[in-house]
Amino acid sequence: MTEKLYEGKAKILYTSDDPHIVLAQFKDDATAFNAQKQGTIADKGTVNATVSAHLFTLLEKSGISTHFIDQPAATQLRLQKLRMIPLEVVVRNVVAGSLVKRTGLSNGTVLAEPIVEFYYKDDALGDPLLNDSHILSVLELVSASQLSELRASALEVNGILSQFYVDCGIRLIDFKLEYGFAPDGSIVLGDELSPDNCRLWTLSDNRVLDKDRFRFDMGEVASAYQEVLRRVLAHS
Ligand code: UDP
Repeated sequence: MTEKLYEGKAKILYTSDDPHIVLAQFKDDATAFNAQKQGTIADKGTVNATVSAHLFTLLEKSGISTHFIDQPAATQLRLQKLRMIPLEVVVRNVVAGSLVKRTGLSNGTVLAEPIVEFYYKDDALGDPLLNDSHILSVLELVSASQLSELRASALEVNGILSQFYVDCGIRLIDFKLEYGFAPDGSIVLGDELSPDNCRLWTLSDNRVLDKDRFRFDMGEVASAYQEVLRRVLAHS
């Protein structure tokens, strides 16, 4: 018997017969702006599960430890159960989204080098940006060496995914990762890798292929998600 462990905005997590394995059911539901905007994107569950499965497989081949096990159905992933770290680890190659608001730089400005930011995963607080002192000595979320490991891993993931997406004709503008602890205490990449939590622009003409189409009512949302899936499958 499986039971619902947790229901989030875009996924439901179920237990499995194995206490170390959970089943993620990807939904077509979409939310933005801390759930103030709600809707659905046709077949988003299938796109996000399938793109995530491919990207986790790619990362594993490059030596990154992830929670991905397999994809038993179109909208489902079997995953190693982790004790999640309440941080959103954001990597940026190009200025977009909240970095435009924070800096006043133009959307699309290419950064001199990739940067990593940490946000506190707390809906009630609106996921605020944290600095190292907040993470280490105020909230004590991880140790200093674990924080270094998270930064290094996020940048390594960025290198692998950026190259893969270039091969797909896509620029990886920014993305969000979440990590957790495996039972042996090692840090493992969790969550999903999909157009819901990445900004993806076409290389040829900076056409937006990600959730910003939903956030900002740009139209052709479902077809943009399908285009990402098509391009990823063509280059896997
Ligand atoms: N992101 C996410 N979940 C969040 C916040 C951000 O997946 O709760 C992703 C977002 O899709 C983008 C990157 O992290 O690819 C950076 O987002 P940003 O800080 O610019 O925030 P936003 O503009 O999405 O509010």
